[in-house]
Amino acid sequence: MATRKQIVAGNWKMNGSKELLSQMSETLNSESFQADVIIFPPAMLIEQAVEKGLTVGTQSVSEYKEGAYTGEIQASLASSLGATYTLVGHSERRALYGESDEVVANKFAHAQEQGLTPILCVGETEEERESEQTEEVVARQINAVIEKLGIAALANSVIAYEPVWAIGTGKTASPEQAQAVHKFIRNLLSEQDEQIAKTLRLLYGGSVNEKNSELLFAQEDIDGGLIGGASLKPENFLSICKSA
Ligand code: PGA
Repeated sequence: MATRKQIVAGNWKMNGSKELLSQMSETLNSESFQADVIIFPPAMLIEQAVEKGLTVGTQSVSEYKEGAYTGEIQASLASSLGATYTLVGHSERRALYGESDEVVANKFAHAQEQGLTPILCVGETEEERESEQTEEVVARQINAVIEKLGIAALANSVIAYEPVWAIGTGKTASPEQAQAVHKFIRNLLSEQDEQIAKTLRLLYGGSVNEKNSELLFAQEDIDGGLIGGASLKPENFLSICKSA
């Protein structure tokens, strides 16, 4: 754990405002952190977030370079505005917008081509966990990217394990449950490339808050978190950033 710099990423989803951005940047800019802190605001606030000195990512990107894709977020434009990361395959994109493993792999590839570091989100539903398919699902979601791009593409990426049943529900995975899946992911990667397995940062997401973050982030294979709801309150998010 000690050799990997932790990440605390705040995913605002379709929430927030210019005012929240000002408050958040004031709060974060007055502190220094041991972790890399990244904010994923709505796309329309990316430029302002960058101007305020934050490290910024997009919540999604199109898999296409340009063209007739109304409403989509263009990776090259996000990158030219100063975004350096993007989420790909967030479970809300998979469930609500029908993003398949293949589309997620395409987005991963295109994001890297345009200079954005992808944070690949993976995780099982409650039903899948109950039928003991967690490892199978997570492996399938990660392998879709490896099969398309090769293991080397993961060197410049981050993986976030986010059990779907824990997102926005207040039901966090226990540190032991989360660590077990993180360890499984690291082993899966080490079968193909030990160096990548050792250095790749694996985040946990799903109802992380200022009360549970410290224990989660202390697990051997957990290198920080992807935070939804609790990233909308500057004081709470600050405590989470400090716990990494
Ligand atoms: P949550 O969301 O922290 O509100 O559970 C996490 C996420 O969706 O990334």
